[in-house]
Amino acid sequence: MIYIRENTNEKESFIPCVNKIGNKYICNRCLNSDYSQFYQDQLGIYCLKCLVFGKSSTYKEIHRQKINYESLDKYYLNKVIYLSEMQAKASIECVNAFSHGYNLLIFAVCGAGKTEIVYDVILKALNEGKIVCFATPRKDVVLM
Ligand SMILES: [Zn+2]
Repeated sequence: MIYIRENTNEKESFIPCVNKIGNKYICNRCLNSDYSQFYQDQLGIYCLKCLVFGKSSTYKEIHRQKINYESLDKYYLNKVIYLSEMQAKASIECVNAFSHGYNLLIFAVCGAGKTEIVYDVILKALNEGKIVCFATPRKDVVLM
C-alpha cells in the first residue's frame, strides 16, 4: 500500500521511501524492487541498491514539494567560477546547443572541470522555467 500524507496547502506531500506492495518492496527513490536488494534493520526495511546515498527505508519519507517556478526569482550562482579558455568555449557551446535544441557530449578526464562547464547552461535552463536533472556518480557531490 502506498500512502501519501498531503499537507493542507497541497503544495507538498510525503511518501515512504520504501513501500510494501503485496509481498514485494519497492524503493521510491531508485525504483528497486529486487527482493535480494532489501535488508532489514531494527526499524524496518531499507534499500541496498541506493544505500550509498543514505538509507531509503520504510520508516523514512520522501518530501515532495510543488514549486511555482513563475514566482521564483532568477537563479544565479552564489560562487564566482573562473573558467579556463577551453572551459569557457565549451560552456558557450553548451549554451548554444541548449538554445538551438541539439545534444552535446562533453568528454574529458576526471578532474578536468566538466561540472563547471555546464553551470551556465543549467542557469539558462532554470531561468527559462525548465526543470534540470543533473546526474552524477559522485557521492560527495550528491550529499552536499
Ligand atoms: Zn533504493
